[in-house]
Amino acid sequence: MTFDIKTVVSLWLLLSVISALTVVSMYFRYRERFQGIAFWALHMGLYTAGVSLLVLRGGVPDVLSVLLANYLLILSLFFLLNGMERFVGRPGRHFHNYALIAVYALAFWYFFDVRPDMTLRTVLTSLTASAFFGQVTFLLLIRTPSNLRDVTRTSAFVMVSYAVLSLARALLLIFSPLETNEFFEAGGLTSVALLCYVGLSVCWLVAIILMIPRRLLEEVSVQEEKFAKIFRSSPGAIMLTRKADGRIFDVNGGFLEMTGYAFEEIVGATVFETKLWGDDKEYTDIFSALSRDQGVRGIESVLRKKSGESMSVLFSSDIVVIDGEQCMLSTFSDITEQSRLRRQLHEMATHDPLTGLPNRRLFDERATDVFARATRQKRKFAIMSFDIDHFKDINDTYGHAVGDEVLRQAAVRLKESLRITDTVARLGGDEFVALIEEVRGRSDASRVAFKLLELFRRPFIVEGHEVLIRVSIGVALFPENGETVEVLLKKSDDALYTAKEMGRDTLKMAED
Ligand code: GH3
Ligand code: MG
Repeated sequence: MTFDIKTVVSLWLLLSVISALTVVSMYFRYRERFQGIAFWALHMGLYTAGVSLLVLRGGVPDVLSVLLANYLLILSLFFLLNGMERFVGRPGRHFHNYALIAVYALAFWYFFDVRPDMTLRTVLTSLTASAFFGQVTFLLLIRTPSNLRDVTRTSAFVMVSYAVLSLARALLLIFSPLETNEFFEAGGLTSVALLCYVGLSVCWLVAIILMIPRRLLEEVSVQEEKFAKIFRSSPGAIMLTRKADGRIFDVNGGFLEMTGYAFEEIVGATVFETKLWGDDKEYTDIFSALSRDQGVRGIESVLRKKSGESMSVLFSSDIVVIDGEQCMLSTFSDITEQSRLRRQLHEMATHDPLTGLPNRRLFDERATDVFARATRQKRKFAIMSFDIDHFKDINDTYGHAVGDEVLRQAAVRLKESLRITDTVARLGGDEFVALIEEVRGRSDASRVAFKLLELFRRPFIVEGHEVLIRVSIGVALFPENGETVEVLLKKSDDALYTAKEMGRDTLKMAED
């Protein structure tokens, strides 16, 4: 069976052009992702140029259509080997290939120019090509990392076929040399060999097209495994919910450990059904912040464990699209202990340790608030300074511990007798100050102050002792006695001093 060689080579050229265009488009798409595709493109470019020159045999000088064409074909195989090495991440040394190309180039030139012989030239080209195809086969089957061998296997089979075909062609030509030096009249064997090359070109095109998606799939499955591992083994709590209705799709071990739920109890339910956020409103607030900003970071929130116990968490969430559905990927870290310590520190910084009453700092903060509100709403308020009369004597008579307990009980009485909106603070020693909101005027304020005076008249029972104390009170009114908290405090303190001078156990209203 013979074929017109020119037709076969033209077909070969057509396939080479299609392959070259395919590889170039792959280069533009995947050059950032995979190494070596630039070399594939170079390979296909040189290969196509070589086959084009073969087609032009007779129409252009032989130095182009014979010498250059074959040089280009062999060089293209060198780049194919380099490209494949880079693609599978196994670049190698190429001294032997440089030597091979140099020897091939010299010998080919010899049988082209000095002693023209098409048979020997074809044998040379086939053997050299076979050497390169063999190296690519070895690379794809053996040197390639084992996880990529599935990706490269099809290409390896095409390459081994090329290698065997080229070797067989060389051997056949050695035993049965060509009878002519005219390429297009070379006869049946050449046309069959070329037809095989055409067939292999089709296979190669398919193999190379398949290689990229297989490699992508391989990478995706590696990434999937990696992220699944991170998700499962992360000590932090992670939860995946559907954005539309808060249905929980997945949670990791850290989440189960943190909340006390079993996987089956929580996955499939919604965050509302599980009352994970004890307060649905808190979830809704987070949800709207998430929708607005496409993610929330480091929000402090309160989660409810399965046991019903609350825990403080630091919460971050991002929107991810899974199977076309918007989901929330949320992470939580338990900050209950930090929150407790922070609250404790804040409590210590703002309260008196003996009585638990607000200290001067918190009193100033609250007074500033009350002052701003009263100014805005044109309301009155009173500041009352207290000091226990002759408290030193209590200490001296009953001891310091009894004195402390009296101070504690005095604080309880003060707190209980005032409204929740009023503030009473211990400024130090036996000195207290009260901030009374919503007083209508002087008489109103003095009525409250008298009530407090009376409050202390009841004896304090401490360690079996009946301790009797009296207090003196100084009262200042806003806005009558001052326009700032500082002035009002000074005025009530001055009034207290006057009350002491007046003989104690009494109250004194600031004068102006
Ligand atoms: P006055 O009628 O002038 O107020 O006389 P006083 O003895 O109450 O004297 P003053 O208010 O100037 O001093 C308060 C005394 O209260 C001084 C100290 O002995 C006592 N004291 C201050 N802080 C504490 C405390 O934390 N615990 C106890 N037990 N006593 C305190
Ligand atoms: Mg005192």
